Amino acid sequence: LPPPPKDAPVGRIDDGTFSAYAGSQRFDQLPVSQKTKDGLKEAKFTKMTEIQRASLPHSLCGRDILGAAKTGSGKTLAFIIPVIEKLYRARWGPEDGVGSIIISPTRELAAQLFDVLKSVGKHHNVSAGLLIGGRKDIDTEKEHVNDLNILVCTPGRLLQHMDETPNFDCSQLQVLVLDEADRILDVGFKKALNAIVSQLPKHRQTFLFSATQTKSVQDLARLSLKDPEYLSVHDES
Ligand code: ADP
Ligand code: MG
Repeated sequence: LPPPPKDAPVGRIDDGTFSAYAGSQRFDQLPVSQKTKDGLKEAKFTKMTEIQRASLPHSLCGRDILGAAKTGSGKTLAFIIPVIEKLYRARWGPEDGVGSIIISPTRELAAQLFDVLKSVGKHHNVSAGLLIGGRKDIDTEKEHVNDLNILVCTPGRLLQHMDETPNFDCSQLQVLVLDEADRILDVGFKKALNAIVSQLPKHRQTFLFSATQTKSVQDLARLSLKDPEYLSVHDES
């Protein structure tokens, strides 16, 4: 990690690194790479939203996150930034295989967050692929899926690869993201998610973001997160 800024406010005293960044207001105050800072700046992201301010100091220190914040509050960057940084710090390269899986409820939402990933991560040299079914032939995907570092997928399509793609390998997975978890569960993917999570390596970092905290979201959190930070943001400032 880079040294904390001199004027950084003190947060929690049990974790020096976290404390140093806890009061950050802008992305350029965070312990992230220059490549990510440049990507954010070029995409005109400067000041963090509340869920980003609350979660990024924790997620960038390696913690699991259970984050609830309403639609439009900026949850996408709250997980895309730590995914990119985790792989960057691990010096992840094209030959290292699948390092992160991001699961989204619908093709449209997956495609949107894929665009954000491409824009903010454009100075990094990790590869990313969108696995959402529909327009693309799965046989072509099967040949390339092991060459991708970040998979952005719908649960159905990911499970299909896990079941059918020879040599599909996520044994080195570093970060799992369950985005819009309440909606993933609403559209009937509970079984698929359980099957996916049970096939992934346990030693990983996990982020679960949701607009609402339902009982089934909490069940999923228990199954997928390890000692998470619970962050619930209600109003945007
Ligand atoms: P959510 O997933 O919580 O519904 P999104 O991540 O899709 O929200 O973000 C909603 C909108 O806010 C998007 O248009 C996004 O570009 C914008 N946005 C997110 N974070 C910031 C920020 N820090 N500064 C300016 N705009 C932001
Ligand atoms: Mg979202």
